[in-house]
Amino acid sequence: MIHEILPVGPLQCNCSIIGDEATREAMVIDPGDDINEILALIRKHSLQVKQIVITHAHIDHVGGAMKLRAATGAPILLNQNDYSLLKMLDLQAAWIGMPSPGKVEIDRSITSGDAVAAGSHTASVLHTPGHTEGSICLYFEADKKLIAGDTLFAGSIGRTDLPGGSMQKIMRSLHETVLALPDETVVVPGHGPITTIGEERESNLFLR
Ligand SMILES: [Zn+2]
Repeated sequence: MIHEILPVGPLQCNCSIIGDEATREAMVIDPGDDINEILALIRKHSLQVKQIVITHAHIDHVGGAMKLRAATGAPILLNQNDYSLLKMLDLQAAWIGMPSPGKVEIDRSITSGDAVAAGSHTASVLHTPGHTEGSICLYFEADKKLIAGDTLFAGSIGRTDLPGGSMQKIMRSLHETVLALPDETVVVPGHGPITTIGEERESNLFLR
């Protein structure tokens, strides 16, 4: 598996580029900003982007999606429960003092039961509401890897005080869905350092 993690934009959202070494097919997860740097990595590995997957519709995760779609032709995938947040992108931009990225169009909604793939690397979509209504995680079971969006961080969990957030729902998502995964699963959070399910199960105070 080719896996580049690039912190993008002023909030340093972890953008993941996942590619198949054999077919060179790839997906980009959360291209929040810095699209030229993302495209440089895609060229460096000679990848062809087939899907753009958004873990949730906060501007730091979705802000660059339209630029990347224009450059690659790949469709943008987001859970439909976050479509209402997309309509607030101008407001979100104002909150963090970023220029608005304009209108973002979603090509397809994805939810639990769906799968997304970069060549032979397949991920199950896990709908994990709480940080937002439409938050998802991507679980690459064979590669023992979870792209967690802003649901789980090393030593912390996603904030729930923004529109669509729910402490009750994020705790249910974490305990019933995320912590159901094996301890050796590597977790790539939406911000900050990588961790594992086992490490968070043992030491994350928010999961006690
Ligand atoms: Zn977020």
